[in-house]
Amino acid sequence: MNAQSDIEAGGANQGDLFSKFDDFIAMRDGILASGVEDPFNLVMEKVLSPTRAICNGRDTILLGTYNYMGMTFDPDVIEAGKEALTEFGTGTTGSRVLNGTYQGHKECEDALKEFYDMDHAMVFSTGYQANLGIISTIAGKGDYIILDIDSHASIWDGCAMGKAEAVPFKHNDIEAMEKRLKRVPEGAGKLVILEGVYSMLGDVAPLKEMVRIAKENGAMVLVDEAHSMGFIGENGRGVCEAAGIIDDCDFIIGTFSKSVGTVGGFCVSNHPKFDVMRYVCRPYVFTASLPPSVVATAATSIRKLMHGSNKRAHLWENSKNLHAGLKSLGFQLGTDTPESAIIAVIMPDLQKGAMMWEALLKEGLYVNLARPPATPANMTLLRCSLCAEHTEEEVQTVLGMFERAGKATGII
Ligand code: PMP
Repeated sequence: MNAQSDIEAGGANQGDLFSKFDDFIAMRDGILASGVEDPFNLVMEKVLSPTRAICNGRDTILLGTYNYMGMTFDPDVIEAGKEALTEFGTGTTGSRVLNGTYQGHKECEDALKEFYDMDHAMVFSTGYQANLGIISTIAGKGDYIILDIDSHASIWDGCAMGKAEAVPFKHNDIEAMEKRLKRVPEGAGKLVILEGVYSMLGDVAPLKEMVRIAKENGAMVLVDEAHSMGFIGENGRGVCEAAGIIDDCDFIIGTFSKSVGTVGGFCVSNHPKFDVMRYVCRPYVFTASLPPSVVATAATSIRKLMHGSNKRAHLWENSKNLHAGLKSLGFQLGTDTPESAIIAVIMPDLQKGAMMWEALLKEGLYVNLARPPATPANMTLLRCSLCAEHTEEEVQTVLGMFERAGKATGII
Protein backbone atom coordinates (compact mmCIF):
# COMPACT_ATOMS: atom_id res chain seq x y z
CA MET A 1 0.00 0.00 0.00
CA ASN A 2 1.40 3.41 -0.84
CA ALA A 3 1.64 6.19 1.72
CA GLN A 4 -1.37 8.13 0.43
CA SER A 5 -3.76 5.17 0.32
CA ASP A 6 -2.54 4.13 3.74
CA ILE A 7 -3.47 7.53 5.15
CA GLU A 8 -6.86 7.39 3.45
CA ALA A 9 -7.47 3.96 4.90
CA GLY A 10 -6.30 5.16 8.32
CA GLY A 11 -3.85 2.23 8.29
CA ALA A 12 -1.34 1.19 10.87
CA ASN A 13 1.48 2.64 8.74
CA GLN A 14 0.05 6.15 8.91
CA GLY A 15 2.85 8.60 9.49
CA ASP A 16 5.53 5.94 9.05
CA LEU A 17 8.28 7.71 7.14
CA PHE A 18 9.62 4.31 6.06
CA SER A 19 6.61 3.61 3.83
CA LYS A 20 8.42 5.33 0.92
CA PHE A 21 10.80 2.36 0.85
CA ASP A 22 8.06 -0.26 0.44
CA ASP A 23 8.72 -0.77 -3.28
CA PHE A 24 12.42 -1.30 -2.64
CA ILE A 25 11.73 -3.74 0.21
CA ALA A 26 9.32 -5.69 -2.03
CA MET A 27 11.91 -5.86 -4.84
CA ARG A 28 14.56 -7.18 -2.43
CA ASP A 29 12.17 -9.68 -0.86
CA GLY A 30 11.28 -10.86 -4.38
CA ILE A 31 14.91 -11.68 -5.17
CA LEU A 32 15.50 -13.46 -1.87
CA ALA A 33 12.21 -15.42 -2.16
CA SER A 34 13.60 -17.12 -5.25
CA GLY A 35 16.21 -18.68 -2.97
CA VAL A 36 19.30 -16.79 -4.17
CA GLU A 37 21.82 -15.45 -1.70
CA ASP A 38 21.59 -11.72 -0.89
CA PRO A 39 24.02 -10.14 -3.39
CA PHE A 40 24.31 -7.00 -1.24
CA ASN A 41 25.23 -8.69 2.02
CA LEU A 42 28.35 -10.66 1.23
CA VAL A 43 30.94 -10.92 3.99
CA MET A 44 34.67 -11.20 3.26
CA GLU A 45 35.62 -13.53 6.09
CA LYS A 46 39.31 -13.17 5.40
CA VAL A 47 41.18 -11.17 2.76
CA LEU A 48 44.23 -13.02 1.47
CA SER A 49 45.54 -10.61 -1.16
CA PRO A 50 44.25 -7.91 -3.54
CA THR A 51 42.75 -10.68 -5.68
CA ARG A 52 41.68 -13.39 -3.20
CA ALA A 53 39.40 -13.63 -0.16
CA ILE A 54 37.52 -16.26 1.81
CA CYS A 55 33.78 -15.87 1.26
CA ASN A 56 31.32 -18.44 2.66
CA GLY A 57 34.35 -20.51 3.70
CA ARG A 58 35.57 -20.69 0.09
CA ASP A 59 38.72 -19.31 -1.58
CA THR A 60 37.27 -16.71 -3.93
CA ILE A 61 38.81 -14.70 -6.79
CA LEU A 62 37.98 -11.02 -6.39
CA LEU A 63 36.88 -9.43 -9.66
CA GLY A 64 34.77 -6.59 -8.33
CA THR A 65 36.80 -4.45 -5.96
CA TYR A 66 38.14 -1.48 -8.02
CA ASN A 67 41.49 -2.37 -6.47
CA TYR A 68 42.99 -1.68 -9.90
CA MET A 69 46.66 -1.52 -8.96
CA GLY A 70 46.57 -4.03 -6.12
CA MET A 71 48.13 -1.61 -3.63
CA THR A 72 46.19 -2.88 -0.59
CA PHE A 73 48.85 -5.46 0.27
CA ASP A 74 51.92 -3.63 -0.97
CA PRO A 75 54.58 -4.17 1.74
CA ASP A 76 55.85 -0.55 1.65
CA VAL A 77 52.33 0.80 1.90
CA ILE A 78 51.50 -1.48 4.84
CA GLU A 79 54.73 -0.55 6.61
CA ALA A 80 54.02 3.18 6.20
CA GLY A 81 50.59 2.68 7.75
CA LYS A 82 51.97 0.72 10.70
CA GLU A 83 54.64 3.33 11.40
CA ALA A 84 52.13 6.19 11.33
CA LEU A 85 49.77 4.26 13.60
CA THR A 86 52.55 3.81 16.13
CA GLU A 87 53.93 7.34 15.89
CA PHE A 88 50.76 9.40 15.51
CA GLY A 89 48.00 7.25 17.03
CA THR A 90 44.71 5.96 15.69
CA GLY A 91 42.96 9.18 14.70
CA THR A 92 43.15 12.97 14.57
CA THR A 93 39.82 13.62 16.36
CA GLY A 94 39.47 16.89 14.52
CA SER A 95 38.84 18.93 11.41
CA ARG A 96 41.61 19.82 8.99
CA VAL A 97 41.15 23.49 9.93
CA LEU A 98 41.51 22.87 13.67
CA ASN A 99 43.61 20.06 15.18
CA GLY A 100 43.27 17.60 12.27
CA THR A 101 46.18 18.56 10.00
CA TYR A 102 49.19 16.36 10.75
CA GLN A 103 52.47 16.16 8.91
CA GLY A 104 51.05 13.13 7.06
CA HIS A 105 48.16 15.11 5.54
CA LYS A 106 50.64 17.64 4.18
CA GLU A 107 52.86 14.85 2.80
CA CYS A 108 49.86 13.25 1.15
CA GLU A 109 48.93 16.55 -0.50
CA ASP A 110 52.55 17.01 -1.62
CA ALA A 111 52.49 13.52 -3.17
CA LEU A 112 49.31 14.43 -5.07
CA LYS A 113 50.76 17.73 -6.33
CA GLU A 114 53.78 15.84 -7.61
CA PHE A 115 51.71 13.01 -9.07
CA TYR A 116 49.56 15.43 -11.10
CA ASP A 117 52.22 18.16 -11.50
CA MET A 118 49.71 20.69 -10.18
CA ASP A 119 49.96 23.65 -7.80
CA HIS A 120 47.28 22.72 -5.26
CA ALA A 121 45.93 19.56 -3.66
CA MET A 122 43.29 19.18 -1.01
CA VAL A 123 42.57 15.87 0.71
CA PHE A 124 39.04 15.01 1.85
CA SER A 125 37.83 12.15 4.03
CA THR A 126 36.25 10.38 1.02
CA GLY A 127 35.90 10.88 -2.73
CA TYR A 128 32.18 11.33 -2.17
CA GLN A 129 32.93 14.33 0.06
CA ALA A 130 35.45 15.72 -2.43
CA ASN A 131 32.76 15.93 -5.13
CA LEU A 132 30.12 17.09 -2.66
CA GLY A 133 32.41 19.77 -1.28
CA ILE A 134 34.06 21.18 -4.38
CA ILE A 135 30.93 21.20 -6.55
CA SER A 136 28.60 22.69 -3.92
CA THR A 137 31.14 25.34 -2.96
CA ILE A 138 32.14 26.59 -6.42
CA ALA A 139 28.70 26.46 -8.08
CA GLY A 140 25.84 28.09 -6.18
CA LYS A 141 22.48 29.72 -6.78
CA GLY A 142 22.40 31.41 -10.20
CA ASP A 143 25.28 29.31 -11.59
CA TYR A 144 24.82 26.54 -14.16
CA ILE A 145 26.27 23.03 -14.03
CA ILE A 146 26.31 21.11 -17.31
CA LEU A 147 26.86 17.44 -16.51
CA ASP A 148 26.65 13.99 -18.05
CA ILE A 149 23.36 12.31 -17.13
CA ASP A 150 25.24 9.20 -15.95
CA SER A 151 27.32 11.15 -13.42
CA HIS A 152 28.13 9.51 -10.08
CA ALA A 153 25.74 10.07 -7.17
CA SER A 154 28.32 12.22 -5.35
CA ILE A 155 28.32 14.64 -8.32
CA TRP A 156 24.54 14.90 -8.36
CA ASP A 157 24.48 15.39 -4.59
CA GLY A 158 27.11 18.16 -4.90
CA CYS A 159 24.91 19.91 -7.47
CA ALA A 160 21.86 19.63 -5.20
CA MET A 161 23.73 20.87 -2.14
CA GLY A 162 25.07 23.96 -3.92
CA LYS A 163 21.66 24.83 -5.42
CA ALA A 164 23.11 25.66 -8.86
CA GLU A 165 20.96 24.89 -11.90
CA ALA A 166 21.97 21.35 -12.96
CA VAL A 167 21.51 20.71 -16.68
CA PRO A 168 22.21 17.10 -17.69
CA PHE A 169 23.09 15.98 -21.21
CA LYS A 170 22.92 12.55 -22.86
CA HIS A 171 25.78 10.30 -21.83
CA ASN A 172 29.03 11.08 -23.66
CA ASP A 173 27.14 13.11 -26.31
CA ILE A 174 29.39 16.01 -27.40
CA GLU A 175 26.69 17.84 -29.38
CA ALA A 176 24.14 17.57 -26.58
CA MET A 177 26.70 19.01 -24.17
CA GLU A 178 27.46 21.94 -26.49
CA LYS A 179 23.77 22.68 -27.03
CA ARG A 180 23.13 22.87 -23.27
CA LEU A 181 26.20 25.07 -22.75
CA LYS A 182 25.14 27.54 -25.41
CA ARG A 183 21.72 27.91 -23.76
CA VAL A 184 23.16 29.14 -20.45
CA PRO A 185 22.06 32.76 -19.89
CA GLU A 186 24.65 35.43 -20.65
CA GLY A 187 26.84 36.25 -17.67
CA ALA A 188 25.93 33.21 -15.55
CA GLY A 189 28.72 31.09 -14.01
CA LYS A 190 29.25 27.79 -15.88
CA LEU A 191 30.79 24.54 -14.67
CA VAL A 192 31.08 21.46 -16.89
CA ILE A 193 31.41 18.17 -14.98
CA LEU A 194 32.72 15.02 -16.68
CA GLU A 195 34.17 11.69 -15.63
CA GLY A 196 37.21 10.07 -17.25
CA VAL A 197 35.85 6.52 -17.00
CA TYR A 198 32.17 5.89 -16.24
CA SER A 199 31.99 3.19 -13.60
CA MET A 200 28.91 1.31 -14.72
CA LEU A 201 29.83 0.38 -18.30
CA GLY A 202 33.56 1.12 -18.06
CA ASP A 203 33.43 3.47 -21.04
CA VAL A 204 35.69 6.48 -21.49
CA ALA A 205 34.51 10.06 -22.14
CA PRO A 206 35.57 11.97 -25.29
CA LEU A 207 37.35 14.45 -23.04
CA LYS A 208 39.47 16.08 -25.74
CA GLU A 209 36.49 17.45 -27.64
CA MET A 210 34.32 18.07 -24.59
CA VAL A 211 36.92 20.03 -22.66
CA ARG A 212 37.77 22.10 -25.74
CA ILE A 213 34.10 23.01 -26.24
CA ALA A 214 33.65 23.78 -22.55
CA LYS A 215 36.61 26.16 -22.61
CA GLU A 216 35.51 27.81 -25.88
CA ASN A 217 32.19 28.54 -24.17
CA GLY A 218 33.78 30.08 -21.09
CA ALA A 219 33.01 27.26 -18.66
CA MET A 220 35.19 25.93 -15.87
CA VAL A 221 35.81 22.18 -16.06
CA LEU A 222 35.82 19.52 -13.33
CA VAL A 223 36.78 15.95 -14.21
CA ASP A 224 36.26 13.02 -11.85
CA GLU A 225 39.09 10.55 -12.51
CA ALA A 226 38.09 8.04 -9.78
CA HIS A 227 38.32 5.05 -12.13
CA SER A 228 41.30 6.11 -14.22
CA MET A 229 43.84 7.44 -11.72
CA GLY A 230 46.88 5.20 -11.47
CA PHE A 231 46.01 3.27 -14.62
CA ILE A 232 45.17 5.42 -17.66
CA GLY A 233 47.67 7.93 -19.11
CA GLU A 234 51.44 7.69 -19.39
CA ASN A 235 51.95 8.63 -15.74
CA GLY A 236 48.63 7.25 -14.53
CA ARG A 237 47.09 10.72 -14.21
CA GLY A 238 43.94 9.58 -15.95
CA VAL A 239 41.96 10.10 -19.14
CA CYS A 240 42.77 13.85 -19.03
CA GLU A 241 46.45 12.97 -19.40
CA ALA A 242 45.81 10.40 -22.15
CA ALA A 243 43.69 12.98 -24.03
CA GLY A 244 46.34 15.69 -23.59
CA ILE A 245 43.98 18.18 -21.90
CA ILE A 246 45.07 17.99 -18.27
CA ASP A 247 46.18 21.65 -18.28
CA ASP A 248 42.71 22.74 -19.39
CA CYS A 249 41.02 21.10 -16.41
CA ASP A 250 40.26 23.48 -13.57
CA PHE A 251 39.65 20.70 -11.06
CA ILE A 252 40.47 17.00 -11.02
CA ILE A 253 38.66 14.94 -8.41
CA GLY A 254 39.88 11.54 -7.33
CA THR A 255 39.62 8.92 -4.63
CA PHE A 256 41.99 6.81 -2.57
CA SER A 257 39.43 3.97 -2.51
CA LYS A 258 40.38 2.49 -5.89
CA SER A 259 43.92 2.46 -7.37
CA VAL A 260 45.44 4.02 -4.24
CA GLY A 261 44.03 1.16 -2.15
CA THR A 262 42.81 2.91 1.00
CA VAL A 263 40.11 5.49 1.74
CA GLY A 264 39.91 9.23 1.12
CA GLY A 265 39.33 11.72 -1.67
CA PHE A 266 41.03 14.71 -3.20
CA CYS A 267 40.89 17.63 -5.56
CA VAL A 268 43.91 19.00 -7.45
CA SER A 269 43.91 22.33 -9.24
CA ASN A 270 46.13 25.06 -10.69
CA HIS A 271 43.65 27.82 -9.86
CA PRO A 272 45.57 30.59 -8.05
CA LYS A 273 42.79 31.10 -5.49
CA PHE A 274 42.22 27.38 -4.84
CA ASP A 275 43.42 27.50 -1.23
CA VAL A 276 40.37 29.52 -0.16
CA MET A 277 38.47 26.22 -0.45
CA ARG A 278 40.04 25.10 2.81
CA TYR A 279 38.00 27.75 4.67
CA VAL A 280 34.72 27.80 2.75
CA CYS A 281 34.10 24.18 1.74
CA ARG A 282 31.76 22.69 4.34
CA PRO A 283 32.39 18.95 3.70
CA TYR A 284 36.10 19.73 4.26
CA VAL A 285 35.71 21.98 7.31
CA PHE A 286 32.92 20.29 9.25
CA THR A 287 34.21 16.72 9.48
CA ALA A 288 37.18 14.95 11.03
CA SER A 289 40.29 14.46 8.91
CA LEU A 290 41.58 11.06 7.82
CA PRO A 291 43.54 8.98 10.37
CA PRO A 292 47.35 9.31 10.19
CA SER A 293 47.74 5.67 9.10
CA VAL A 294 45.41 6.26 6.15
CA VAL A 295 47.20 9.35 4.82
CA ALA A 296 50.56 7.60 5.28
CA THR A 297 49.40 4.60 3.21
CA ALA A 298 47.87 6.92 0.61
CA ALA A 299 51.05 9.03 0.22
CA THR A 300 53.26 5.95 -0.10
CA SER A 301 50.90 4.33 -2.58
CA ILE A 302 50.60 7.50 -4.72
CA ARG A 303 54.40 7.81 -4.89
CA LYS A 304 54.69 4.16 -5.96
CA LEU A 305 51.98 4.64 -8.60
CA MET A 306 54.21 7.26 -10.26
CA HIS A 307 56.46 4.35 -11.23
CA GLY A 308 53.74 1.83 -12.01
CA SER A 309 54.10 1.56 -15.79
CA ASN A 310 54.77 -2.21 -15.75
CA LYS A 311 51.71 -2.79 -13.63
CA ARG A 312 49.66 -0.55 -15.90
CA ALA A 313 50.74 -2.57 -18.94
CA HIS A 314 49.80 -5.86 -17.24
CA LEU A 315 46.41 -4.46 -16.19
CA TRP A 316 45.69 -3.51 -19.82
CA GLU A 317 46.56 -7.09 -20.86
CA ASN A 318 44.16 -8.45 -18.24
CA SER A 319 41.38 -6.14 -19.40
CA LYS A 320 41.87 -7.07 -23.04
CA ASN A 321 41.99 -10.81 -22.30
CA LEU A 322 38.86 -10.77 -20.14
CA HIS A 323 36.94 -8.64 -22.63
CA ALA A 324 37.91 -10.83 -25.60
CA GLY A 325 37.19 -14.05 -23.69
CA LEU A 326 33.75 -12.98 -22.46
CA LYS A 327 32.83 -11.70 -25.90
CA SER A 328 33.78 -14.97 -27.56
CA LEU A 329 31.72 -16.90 -24.97
CA GLY A 330 28.70 -14.93 -26.19
CA PHE A 331 28.15 -12.51 -23.31
CA GLN A 332 26.80 -9.04 -24.05
CA LEU A 333 29.29 -6.43 -22.81
CA GLY A 334 29.04 -2.74 -21.89
CA THR A 335 31.63 -1.66 -24.48
CA ASP A 336 32.61 -3.06 -27.91
CA THR A 337 36.28 -2.90 -27.02
CA PRO A 338 38.01 -2.75 -23.62
CA GLU A 339 38.28 0.94 -22.67
CA SER A 340 39.26 0.67 -18.99
CA ALA A 341 39.75 -1.92 -16.24
CA ILE A 342 35.97 -2.24 -15.84
CA ILE A 343 34.24 -4.86 -18.00
CA ALA A 344 30.47 -4.81 -17.58
CA VAL A 345 28.48 -7.93 -18.49
CA ILE A 346 24.86 -7.06 -19.33
CA MET A 347 22.24 -9.38 -17.79
CA PRO A 348 18.76 -9.92 -19.23
CA ASP A 349 17.06 -8.82 -15.98
CA LEU A 350 17.60 -8.49 -12.24
CA GLN A 351 16.37 -12.01 -11.43
CA LYS A 352 18.71 -13.64 -13.95
CA GLY A 353 21.50 -11.30 -12.90
CA ALA A 354 21.15 -12.36 -9.26
CA MET A 355 21.13 -16.04 -10.31
CA MET A 356 24.26 -15.60 -12.38
CA TRP A 357 25.94 -13.64 -9.57
CA GLU A 358 25.23 -16.49 -7.16
CA ALA A 359 26.37 -19.15 -9.63
CA LEU A 360 29.67 -17.30 -10.04
CA LEU A 361 30.09 -17.03 -6.27
CA LYS A 362 29.57 -20.77 -5.96
CA GLU A 363 32.27 -21.21 -8.61
CA GLY A 364 34.56 -19.11 -6.41
CA LEU A 365 34.31 -15.73 -8.15
CA TYR A 366 33.14 -12.40 -6.76
CA VAL A 367 31.84 -9.69 -9.14
CA ASN A 368 29.57 -6.70 -8.44
CA LEU A 369 25.87 -6.98 -9.16
CA ALA A 370 24.73 -3.52 -10.25
CA ARG A 371 21.09 -2.64 -10.76
CA PRO A 372 18.89 0.40 -11.35
CA PRO A 373 18.85 3.20 -10.29
CA ALA A 374 22.68 3.09 -10.12
CA THR A 375 22.87 1.74 -13.68
CA PRO A 376 22.05 3.53 -16.94
CA ALA A 377 18.95 2.57 -18.98
CA ASN A 378 17.57 0.27 -16.24
CA MET A 379 20.26 -2.31 -16.93
CA THR A 380 21.31 -5.10 -14.60
CA LEU A 381 25.06 -5.59 -14.82
CA LEU A 382 27.66 -7.96 -13.53
CA ARG A 383 30.49 -5.53 -13.19
CA CYS A 384 34.00 -6.93 -13.32
CA SER A 385 36.97 -4.79 -12.36
CA LEU A 386 40.42 -6.13 -13.01
CA CYS A 387 43.51 -5.79 -10.88
CA ALA A 388 47.15 -5.53 -11.97
CA GLU A 389 47.78 -8.41 -9.55
CA HIS A 390 45.47 -10.84 -11.39
CA THR A 391 47.68 -13.32 -13.22
CA GLU A 392 47.08 -14.35 -16.83
CA GLU A 393 46.08 -17.82 -15.52
CA GLU A 394 43.57 -16.29 -13.11
CA VAL A 395 41.89 -14.46 -15.99
CA GLN A 396 41.60 -17.80 -17.85
CA THR A 397 40.17 -19.42 -14.68
CA VAL A 398 37.63 -16.59 -14.45
CA LEU A 399 36.56 -17.21 -18.06
CA GLY A 400 35.98 -20.90 -17.28
CA MET A 401 33.80 -19.89 -14.33
CA PHE A 402 31.78 -17.50 -16.50
CA GLU A 403 31.27 -20.22 -19.10
CA ARG A 404 29.98 -22.78 -16.59
CA ALA A 405 27.78 -20.30 -14.69
CA GLY A 406 26.48 -18.75 -17.93
CA LYS A 407 25.43 -22.16 -19.29
CA ALA A 408 23.94 -23.29 -15.96
CA THR A 409 21.73 -20.17 -15.77
CA GLY A 410 20.86 -20.20 -19.48
CA ILE A 411 22.41 -16.77 -20.11
CA ILE A 412 24.70 -18.11 -22.86
N1 PMP B 1 33.37 9.34 -8.07
C1 PMP B 1 33.15 8.21 -8.74
C2 PMP B 1 33.07 8.26 -10.24
C3 PMP B 1 33.00 7.01 -8.05
O1 PMP B 1 32.77 5.87 -8.73
C4 PMP B 1 33.11 7.00 -6.65
C5 PMP B 1 33.01 5.73 -5.83
N2 PMP B 1 32.55 4.61 -6.40
C6 PMP B 1 33.33 8.20 -5.99
C7 PMP B 1 33.47 9.36 -6.73
C8 PMP B 1 33.40 8.27 -4.49
O2 PMP B 1 34.59 7.77 -4.02
P1 PMP B 1 34.79 7.29 -2.51
O3 PMP B 1 34.63 5.81 -2.48
O4 PMP B 1 36.17 7.72 -2.18
O5 PMP B 1 33.78 8.00 -1.67
